[in-house]
Amino acid sequence: VQWVYNFGAGAADGRAEMKNLLGGKGANLAEMASIGLPVPPGFTLTTEVCTRFYEDKCTYPTELKGQVAKALARVEERSGQKFGDATNPLLLSVRSGARASMPGMMDTVLNLGLNDWTVAALAKRSGDRRFAYDSYRRFVQMYSDVVLGIELSHFEKLLERAKQRRGVKQDHELVAEDLEKLVMDYKARVHVEIGMDFPEDPHEQLWGAVGAVFNSWMNQRAKTYRQLHDIPESWGTAVNVQAMVFGNMGSDCATGVAFTRNPSNGANDFYGEFLVNAQGEDVVAGIRTPQELTIKARKSHGSDLPSLEEVMPNIFRELCTMRQQLETHYKDMQDIEFTIQQNKLYMLQTRTGKRTAHAALQIAVDMANEGLISKSQALMRLKPELIDQLLHPTLDPKAKKQVIAKGLPASPGAAAGKVVFSADEAVRRAKDGEKVLLVRIETSPDDIHGLHAAEGVLTTRGGMTSHAAVVARGMGRPCVAGAGAVQVDYAAARLSVGSVTVQEGQILTIDGDITELFRIMDGRPVTVRLLDPPLHEFIPHTEAEMAQVAKAAGVPLNRVRRRAAELQEANPMLGHRGCRLAITYPEICEMQARAIFEAAAAVGKAGGAVPVAEVMVPLVATLQELSILKEVVEKTAAAVQKEQGMNFTYRVGTMIELPRACLQAGKLAEQAEFFSFGTNDLTQTTYGLSRDDAGAFLPEYKAKGIVEQDPFVSLDQEGVGELIKVAVERGRTARDGMKMGICGEHGGDPASIEFCNKVGLDYVSCSPFRVPVARLAAAQAAL
Ligand code: ADP
Ligand code: MG
Ligand code: MG
Repeated sequence: VQWVYNFGAGAADGRAEMKNLLGGKGANLAEMASIGLPVPPGFTLTTEVCTRFYEDKCTYPTELKGQVAKALARVEERSGQKFGDATNPLLLSVRSGARASMPGMMDTVLNLGLNDWTVAALAKRSGDRRFAYDSYRRFVQMYSDVVLGIELSHFEKLLERAKQRRGVKQDHELVAEDLEKLVMDYKARVHVEIGMDFPEDPHEQLWGAVGAVFNSWMNQRAKTYRQLHDIPESWGTAVNVQAMVFGNMGSDCATGVAFTRNPSNGANDFYGEFLVNAQGEDVVAGIRTPQELTIKARKSHGSDLPSLEEVMPNIFRELCTMRQQLETHYKDMQDIEFTIQQNKLYMLQTRTGKRTAHAALQIAVDMANEGLISKSQALMRLKPELIDQLLHPTLDPKAKKQVIAKGLPASPGAAAGKVVFSADEAVRRAKDGEKVLLVRIETSPDDIHGLHAAEGVLTTRGGMTSHAAVVARGMGRPCVAGAGAVQVDYAAARLSVGSVTVQEGQILTIDGDITELFRIMDGRPVTVRLLDPPLHEFIPHTEAEMAQVAKAAGVPLNRVRRRAAELQEANPMLGHRGCRLAITYPEICEMQARAIFEAAAAVGKAGGAVPVAEVMVPLVATLQELSILKEVVEKTAAAVQKEQGMNFTYRVGTMIELPRACLQAGKLAEQAEFFSFGTNDLTQTTYGLSRDDAGAFLPEYKAKGIVEQDPFVSLDQEGVGELIKVAVERGRTARDGMKMGICGEHGGDPASIEFCNKVGLDYVSCSPFRVPVARLAAAQAAL
């Protein structure tokens, strides 16, 4: 069995695809070496060694020692140095590297192989005693910490003492003699702590470090990390042993990290930082202020330290070529580590770079345009959740903010405005052109006009499904709900959080994470479903809630109690909801239609293409329901057009989410201009199965083979699908070419989408403000 894989000098036993065996770091070191990038030579002990190590009571496979010795000889040959040699010693780094990145699980040991003899050789060859003893004392400290398990604080104390003795403040002000003495102090401390000498034998050091990496796989930190990230214990970690290169040998040396493109906005700019005369993690550790790579970045950040492009122009050009080479090869943005030793550049690591949603989109689009990847590859790289993030206005992540309280992100997006405490005040101020933020203990249907007038909503009670949350989502207003730390005093018109008090009229910002949507859709149709809040969620349930509502609304508690009882429903999912609510309270329908049309008009006025608003009526069972509400929508549209002095196109359609609606599809199509199959409700009503309660027994149904798939996840094609088919046929017979789609969780399930395609549906959508997300999922499913 091959337990050890070599890399270096333009060749490697491994490849990037072998992450399972070599770990992420090892596989990419091999790949970089094999495409000719300057990687210091080394070798990787595979993850299988780790697995065997644990299977065999923490012992190594018998062949391992021999294979390591051979690989080490290869590194010596490639580097022209010898491990443990007293004239030209090879020094090593021992680096952990699991399949999935597990940052912080184990630290790397650098400068391994130093002892009282090799350090003298290092001093002589580099001509720099200070450098040599600094490397040595760093090694003793790191090894003692990582391998011998000795508290770092012991060494920190000794370092402090050395500085005091010399009368200096900074580490780098210590001279060679101080450091030499410090190493002796360190070693004496080690003896006190473990009752043994610090190992001087380089081979003993090497196996000590290798063992520490494998043992670290089972330490508590790693176990917890794996649990949190769903990483199987059986994966194991690899160990990479690599020749050291030194970025800290003088002013022609440096170390740095870089992204091949800007990870925050995706711009095709080389983006990174470096430090002259530094080693390892000095750059990220923030010991000194790092310098920019490019002149452009230096200028844009207003830094007065010169960039790499200026300090080492030749190395910079070389690095740019490698950047190109890496992107062409990996076809994605890379995150790299590099070190410059005496004007020679080395690559120490590469991996796919993490990026913001914004950058992900930009990079995918750019790379497709550059021909680096195909359009379908670009599409597949975008996770629907990423796009969702992009569609809501958010706070500038870099902006300075004082967070005064937290709640639940009930409706995404950010909003700022003058604080008001009543719906009427919100409307009054909004009429005067002020931007307001409505703050309520909890909202009720009476507040709906205030919700509409406000930029956003903050409530101190209620959760993700509270009235404020449901309504705000429906209207595209950002909402933070249940910010319990906020005390609202309606009478004094102020809120307080701890020692912070905000009066009515002061500006407050909420960040929950929609005119915006219309703007992005740029004239294309946007479908918005009318509010379908189950009425029971508005109703105060407990005595305390009722008291609160009574106080807030200024009505006697008895009346609230009576009203709550009246509104209580035995089976709310089949109760007074959907269009039924709008039939009884047409103002709800009117209010929402108004919100939609005004948003559309606002985009038009701001110079954008006026979007085609598609208004969708939920839970329709009969033609009459639809006719009544369509008339309300039409009247509202006419009113808004007149008020705004502009015309826009809109369509009224219906959700098909009841079996009766499927059977009556022919009739409904006379009035409805499009259908959207609400497959969540349609599944509930067809199966007679409540989605919220199914969890209790569905697993058993699955286990017994009664259902193959949770019908709420993957559309039940035989039952629910059959009804959809009937409705599609009947609808299109009545209205030729009628637009039809589905709306619901099934929109994210490829099998369901494929079925929808087959029966002739045109589109897939999720919640109204996630239309583009669903589109992406559909496009990905079609590939
Ligand atoms: P991590 O997984 O935390 O990134 P690494 O194995 O990459 O750990 O090592 C930590 C630091 O040590 C990095 O900054 C890297 O540049 C440096 N380093 C690792 N190997 C070498 C080497 N062979 N020569 C010089 N520096 C190295
Ligand atoms: Mg690290
Ligand atoms: Mg690293």
